[in-house]
Amino acid sequence: MNRRIPRFIAQFALVFIALSVVPTIYFTTELNKVDSIAKDKVSSQTQAQIEFTLNALKSTTNNIRRSIGILARNGLLYNTITKPNNYNIEALQDLWILTAKTQGYYSLLKLVDAQGNEIVRINQRGSSIEIVAKDHLNNDSQQDYFQKAQLLAPKTVEAYSSSNDRTESSGFTSLAERVTSPIDIGGERLGYFVADINVDAIFKALTYAGTATNRPDMLDASGYYIRSNNPDIQNSSDTDIHLSDINPAVWKYVQNADSGAIYNAGNWWAFQKLKLPVNTITEKLILLIVVPESYIDALKSDEITDLAILASTTYLLIFFLSVVFMAWHINHEKNSIESQIARAAMNGMSAVVITDKNNRIVQVNQEFTRLSGYTLEQVKGKLPSLFASGKHRQEFYMNMWKTLTSEGMWEGEVTNKRKDGSYITEILRIQTVTDRNGNIQFYVASFVDITHRKELENRLRELSERDALSKLWNRRKFDMELKNECRLVDRYPDSNHSCLAVLDIDHFKRINDALGHDEGDRVIQSVAKSLLGEIRDTDFLARIGGEEYALIMPHTDLDEAEIVLNRLRTSVYLAHNEQVSISGGVTDIKSSVQESYKRADVALYQSKTSGRNCISTFSSAQINEIA
Ligand code: GH3
Ligand code: MG
Ligand code: MG
Repeated sequence: MNRRIPRFIAQFALVFIALSVVPTIYFTTELNKVDSIAKDKVSSQTQAQIEFTLNALKSTTNNIRRSIGILARNGLLYNTITKPNNYNIEALQDLWILTAKTQGYYSLLKLVDAQGNEIVRINQRGSSIEIVAKDHLNNDSQQDYFQKAQLLAPKTVEAYSSSNDRTESSGFTSLAERVTSPIDIGGERLGYFVADINVDAIFKALTYAGTATNRPDMLDASGYYIRSNNPDIQNSSDTDIHLSDINPAVWKYVQNADSGAIYNAGNWWAFQKLKLPVNTITEKLILLIVVPESYIDALKSDEITDLAILASTTYLLIFFLSVVFMAWHINHEKNSIESQIARAAMNGMSAVVITDKNNRIVQVNQEFTRLSGYTLEQVKGKLPSLFASGKHRQEFYMNMWKTLTSEGMWEGEVTNKRKDGSYITEILRIQTVTDRNGNIQFYVASFVDITHRKELENRLRELSERDALSKLWNRRKFDMELKNECRLVDRYPDSNHSCLAVLDIDHFKRINDALGHDEGDRVIQSVAKSLLGEIRDTDFLARIGGEEYALIMPHTDLDEAEIVLNRLRTSVYLAHNEQVSISGGVTDIKSSVQESYKRADVALYQSKTSGRNCISTFSSAQINEIA
């Protein structure tokens, strides 16, 4: 059994795998579907996000542009630059405070004269707006932006970034932090309008409230981060972080398209390059949304949970189905092994007859059919007594059943009858098959045919009991038969009268002497033949010596016997042309074998002495009289 366990496990695995193929394909497809649905969802969300951001940025930059246009060229500004008295300054300050408050895009607004002196300046930090006091105003003449502003043509608005060095080298303008516009009146440069743009405020305004995904990171056209939602990038001391530092593959992809989305390193990267109106905040930007895998997983989680429940139920079911199948298979295999064994046993050397508890035949094997001549169809439902030969007495069968019931088994030699009526001698073994409670369910009878062996045995025995010359029974057999007859007479003295005769050829020596020993032998044979021709079937004739014969005549009284013997004697005499004669002595069989013999011998002697060729009797009654 142990040897079969790995095989059963392998078979189980095979069944399980086979049954799992279709569901697995289904679940894989479903999983892919869920995955692609989630990715589509993310893709459209990011697309919407970028769309939104694009619009928000465009409107913001338009607003800034318009507002800067107004702020850089208006009466209050001109009044203040031409006449920087308190009244004008305060009026300008009021306008700017209002503008800063309502728009929230500026961190600084100032008016600088042609020499770089700040005339008016307000700072906005969050929601607080500060008007810088007169004695805190600076001179910007040495600052970078101022030097550049001096070169500006009249009425231009120029964006300026502190990181212009980098962007210049790549030919793009990065996100502007400062916007300057010269103020020229009557061909004379009187000063400059300066506004610092609060890039963070703009960036924060880009959040698309409808989704949980992040607002896009802002990168300049050359791939450097301007603002990022990733705190690691945003808070890094390194101000020049490039997308290729974060993910080279994504940067490569971004470089070659205007917009797109790529799945890489566990994240979903969607980007859009945009071109904004010049002279506002920037010329070119890249918006990049990074959606982490976890977000996609979260989107999928419900469907995946449902799918997982369905899958585990399905696989559990398949598991149980496989177990049930294996149980059936093992049982089937066991049964088939058992039936193979049964078949092998059934078709073995011996003939088999199986009967049910009522001793009706249910099964026979081929050997049985071969030996008995009966097929299963001919004997099914019949009793095995069908095969009885009549050679066994009732007692024999009763003993058989007694042993079978008490010991569950019987074995012995039985002579049955074949379908053609011939006898078959069998060594028969019957075994009972019981159920758990010990009740007999079946009888299994198996036998081997020993008919041939029995015949040989019988022949050998007969040879040992026959006289080779005359073919009559020999002395040994005769003695046994006489013993039996004596016993029967003893047991039933009133009903059983049997006689014993002893016959002897007269003057046989002479025959031998005259004709030779061989001729003598032939005479012994021919006398035997004559005697056999005259006796009854039930008589028992033997050659008990050289030219002596003995005869048992059952159910015959002495008078009858004497008549029979005289007939025999005459028959021999006539058959041998009155050349050969026999003498006989006869007696009734009584008491012992020896006594009976003796009496017959005495009677024979009497015949010899009475002139031969005659029969004498000497009954048991006579000897009693003598005694
Ligand atoms: P009686 O009338 O008194 O019986 O005379 P008999 O000559 O027959 O005498 P007895 O019975 O004494 O002799 C039997 C003889 O038979 C002796 C023996 O030589 C002969 N004999 C015995 N057995 C055989 C045998 O098998 N074959 C032959 N040919 N002769 C046998
Ligand atoms: Mg003789
Ligand atoms: Mg003799």
